[in-house]
Amino acid sequence: MSLTTKIMIGMGAGIVVGLIFNQIDSAFINTHIVAGLFGMVGKMFVNALKMLVVPLVVFSLICGVLGIGDIRILGRVGGKAFALYLMTTAIAIAVAIGIAVLIAPGSGFNMEGVDVGSVSGKEAPSVWSVFAAIVPTNPIAAMASGEMLQIIFYVIVVGIAALMLGESSKKFAEACEYMNELMMKVVGIVMAAAPYGVFCLIAKTFTEQGIELFVPVLAYVLTLVSALFLHLFVTLMLLLKAFSGLNPLTFMKKIRPAQIFAFSTASSNATIPVTYRCVTERVGVNNSVASFSIPFGATINMDGTAIMQGVATVFLANVYGVDLGLGGYLTVIGMAVLASIGTAGVPGVGLVMLTMVLGQVGLPVEGIALILGVDRLMDMIRTVVNITGDAVVTTIVAKGEGQLDTAVYDNPDAGTTEDELEIDPAAEEALAEAAKPHPHA
Ligand code: ASP
Repeated sequence: MSLTTKIMIGMGAGIVVGLIFNQIDSAFINTHIVAGLFGMVGKMFVNALKMLVVPLVVFSLICGVLGIGDIRILGRVGGKAFALYLMTTAIAIAVAIGIAVLIAPGSGFNMEGVDVGSVSGKEAPSVWSVFAAIVPTNPIAAMASGEMLQIIFYVIVVGIAALMLGESSKKFAEACEYMNELMMKVVGIVMAAAPYGVFCLIAKTFTEQGIELFVPVLAYVLTLVSALFLHLFVTLMLLLKAFSGLNPLTFMKKIRPAQIFAFSTASSNATIPVTYRCVTERVGVNNSVASFSIPFGATINMDGTAIMQGVATVFLANVYGVDLGLGGYLTVIGMAVLASIGTAGVPGVGLVMLTMVLGQVGLPVEGIALILGVDRLMDMIRTVVNITGDAVVTTIVAKGEGQLDTAVYDNPDAGTTEDELEIDPAAEEALAEAAKPHPHA
């Protein structure tokens, strides 16, 4: 059985067990099994994924920069990815607002008895400060706190410097190549635990999310999910076909493990190692593009989150009986695109961004309380859309740059080998030999 199949079984079993436990609602199960055991295993698994992100991005990106070898090409790849990320996010939210205006969720909503507690808003950062923050004052601090844009900036500068040094960087390049390979192996080890990790995360979420949370805001949920699916299955796949000519069905199959991880963790950032692995080993994107584009996309590209903001804004405008008008909608589009650049892909950040958007168009931030209950599940779905957008743009850019191996793309078995965790005894012996202290000759 392939690992993907096992992970999918883990996810399916998690949904079933979660729904059953939700109905049983026993204090013992909730405390010891769900919050206790499932919570612990799920947390360990997400932690293990996060543990890989920074070293993987650092070494794969250095290799990527050295692999491209030409600073101009690097600029071109970056520029294309950036433009496509902005474009897909803008399309996503524009379509979402269109759908939401058509369906008009929230009109006639009865606010009585709804507890609008204490949701406080967040000020939108200025565009200038978002860009200024890309340059770190302390690269170690940036790595320690996982500031992705700062890490990318620093690593690219180091990579360019290594290119400039030429021949004397050879050993450094080899060491980074080795470290990249090593980190990918560690990803393989963590992935082996994925079916259990995914099971626990999903079972916990579904136990905790009762169906009754969804009833009052069903119109919002249905509108949002339709808009997310439309973007995932139609817009992104049309873009992939139009810009790269590749078969979208094959693509969806290849990217599925990353989608399952995104769904289980609700974090684009934590999913970086899996998305990176899927696009390099299964889709066939060269490391020189993927090493930059995937972490970059996980940070600045959030199509699903933008869609949620569009739908939520229209929903709340209807609830409060406010007419936003064209100007209001355009503000929402601009704000959502900007907000997605400045914020990292971690669980729940979409809601924080929504407070900025609402503040900007003058809607009461407390309205968020209405959709808070359903946000976790919505977060899981929009994160799937977010990372699929990253993978689509990365693939389009790679195809355009001649950095996509179509033989890998067309091979359904690429990147699904199962012998990853085996240690070759001969290799083990050779290493033990090499590690012995050698008397100087
Ligand atoms: N969880 C999303 C992500 O990581 C962001 C969000 O919409 O809250 O991409």
